[in-house]
Amino acid sequence: MSFEKLGLIKPLLSAIKELGYEHPTTIQQRAIPLVMAKSDIFATAQTGTGKTAAFGLPILQRLRKVNVDENRAVKAVILSPTRELSIQIFEDISNYAKHMKVECAVLVGGKDIETQQRILKKGIDIVIATPGRFLEHVENGLEVNSVEVFVIDEADRMLDMGFTKEIRKVHPLLPKRHQTLLFSATYSEKVRKLSRLVLTKPAFIETSKKNSTVDTINQTAYLVDTHRKAELLAYLIGSRNYPQVLVFTRTKVSADTLFVELQKDGLKCGLIHGDIAQGKRLKTLAQFKEGKIKVLVATDIASRGLDIEHLPYVINYELPSVAEDYVHRVGRTGRAGRNGEAISLIDIYEKFDIREIEIVIGQKIPQETVEGFEPDPSIRRKDIQETSLKSEHKKPNKKKERQYNKNTSGLAKAKKTTKKRKTTKRDAK
Ligand code: AMP
Repeated sequence: MSFEKLGLIKPLLSAIKELGYEHPTTIQQRAIPLVMAKSDIFATAQTGTGKTAAFGLPILQRLRKVNVDENRAVKAVILSPTRELSIQIFEDISNYAKHMKVECAVLVGGKDIETQQRILKKGIDIVIATPGRFLEHVENGLEVNSVEVFVIDEADRMLDMGFTKEIRKVHPLLPKRHQTLLFSATYSEKVRKLSRLVLTKPAFIETSKKNSTVDTINQTAYLVDTHRKAELLAYLIGSRNYPQVLVFTRTKVSADTLFVELQKDGLKCGLIHGDIAQGKRLKTLAQFKEGKIKVLVATDIASRGLDIEHLPYVINYELPSVAEDYVHRVGRTGRAGRNGEAISLIDIYEKFDIREIEIVIGQKIPQETVEGFEPDPSIRRKDIQETSLKSEHKKPNKKKERQYNKNTSGLAKAKKTTKKRKTTKRDAK
């Protein structure tokens, strides 16, 4: 399958070629004709599958703006959960539209609203926004009567972040006969409920197994004692000459601590989490993309919006508190068919968490040790006792344990049980 066969117009084909895309990815092959045919879509697609182009290219094709057009009106609205992701989508769509006369604007919180209003006054065809800021603009007079396409990207994340009310508010503001495209990494009940509200006779696209990780990612877990994790991380980066690594922690506090430790080890690091000002976050991200920073320490806030080309390594310094977030974290590597490596440093407390993750992704993650960093067996015994006495949420769920044990023979069956999983979200963002 080629992009030409999908019937894309010349300006788009040239832009894609310049970006080095040779063939459409699966989601692009399936979504592009449907979007062009004005069908509503419900697509479950993993991160890194090329879904931005899957909706971006046919939207641009539908606008067909090759010549200068003085009468601009907002024709497409793309909502995404985070500022970083919105900016990423804006950059991608602007790249695809480089040979067209299409104007895009990104409207995210944390940026001056009046500057955004001035941009909107010039006439915009495509708006990419976070839900809250988009509604603010509508309340301030942004005209949405001409909207033809409405995209809800990363719907599951958006609902998890509490944007349900905002999305429900946006939908009735748009013209009755608009097309809605809903993309979600997971197929949760919440997402299905939203889909029933916003979609009309949608075409379903499922490009991957639910919650499975991308095939091109090589996943390993290294067993290590908690107090030696930072040392092991620095050792791995140094001894294996990792050129660029994205390191995830579970909390802001551990991200801060790790950042300081790695700097002490002489590594050029950046830090991104929810308490860091937006401007600083974007600057750090840009430095990381340019290769000025070797190690980027981040909490899960960064795991969705980041798109760094050829990112070869993701390290989970701590496993996420929500097993599904593992998929999003490791999805930062192995993008669009490239190979990547995801390493998880797991201590005794996390041995149960990794089982949950294995159930969710439907694969076993090989557990290894690094010479010189083998866990101390005496600490292990003591910690297991303390864990089972003190930490109720870390106790393995008996039902899930049984399913896990069936894993090698019946992973598909085991995955069904995760629907009922209840996990507490702590201060991850
Ligand atoms: P996305 O899933 O939209 O975040 O895309 C992930 C990455 O894949 C981005 O860096 C895109 O530029 C890239 N990409 C998207 N489509 C293709 C394609 N057909 N061939 C190669 N790379 C692509």
